[in-house]
Amino acid sequence: MIPAAFEYHRPQDMAGVLAVLEEYGDDARVLAGGHSLIPMMKLRMAEVPHLIDLQDVVGMSDIEIGAGAIRIGAMVTQTDIIDHVDLAEVAPILREAALQIADPQVRYMGTVGGNVANGDPGNDMPGLMQCLDAVFTVVGPEGERDIRAREFYEAAYMTAREDEEVLTAVTIPASSGGYAYEKQKRKIGDYATAAAAVQIVKDGGNCVSASIAMTNLSDTPVFSEDAGAALVGTSVDATALDAAVAAMLGDIDPTEDNRGPVAFKNHVAGVILRRAIERAWSRA
Ligand code: FAD
Repeated sequence: MIPAAFEYHRPQDMAGVLAVLEEYGDDARVLAGGHSLIPMMKLRMAEVPHLIDLQDVVGMSDIEIGAGAIRIGAMVTQTDIIDHVDLAEVAPILREAALQIADPQVRYMGTVGGNVANGDPGNDMPGLMQCLDAVFTVVGPEGERDIRAREFYEAAYMTAREDEEVLTAVTIPASSGGYAYEKQKRKIGDYATAAAAVQIVKDGGNCVSASIAMTNLSDTPVFSEDAGAALVGTSVDATALDAAVAAMLGDIDPTEDNRGPVAFKNHVAGVILRRAIERAWSRA
């Protein structure tokens, strides 16, 4: 469990980060909380000759709550999300989801940027960000650009971010309504067998909008537009719930692994989504 030798870089600003990335190309990677990358290096599943620590780069650890949007710096940790009282007021689903990630030790170090940039289908924040229609800001040699979370994930560990780009912030549009993040895992601290992020807006007893995304049930997070659409215009009764679950099952593509066979994962996905919708609806 000892990683291959690497050179450690600790630039003070983004220009310094980009300069090292440009100099070493594929041999360099940024390091955020290190709780995905370092284990991979120790297991020799990743060899990174040049590690670029983002810790000292100014302006990446802020949470800004504006009238129309919330901006979360890439180096904000999962614990920062949990502890931020104002954030919990305006976007409580973030806290609810962060509390279900790993354990306190991991959450002290693991960052929002690392969680969404990694492209690990087991990570909880990518699906959450798709549910919330978040936008990821990346910066590279060509400047800055924004990518919707719903368009970011291409395959396991493959995203729309270029290797020489760094994710700097996540922006979440202001929203209202009911929410829920439900996760089924084998034991405390585990990645999801299935997880669902749900946000619902209710008006006069009917659902007027619903956003649903699933975690660890495909090689990318799955934003299920059809599952959300199945709830709109209904009172989220049993028929609507069945339709939403059926639509979601048509969108996911789980594979058998040590979390169970495909039939079991489909079953768990349905149970978890049903629970998440019911809880979000009760809060709407
Ligand atoms: P790092 O490990 O530093 O980086 C991960 C990858 O992302 C690297 O390739 C790195 O180059 C890249 N990267 C990091 N930051 C940026 C950036 N700003 N721009 C571009 N690329 C970047 N996560 C969950 O979601 N749910 C879980 O249940 C869960 N359980 C865990 C259990 C254990 C025991 C452990 C060790 C980890 C677990 N994790 C879980 C993962 C944890 O949340 C990670 O910390 C997180 O996914 C990655 O964040 P990080 O800051 O540690 O990133």
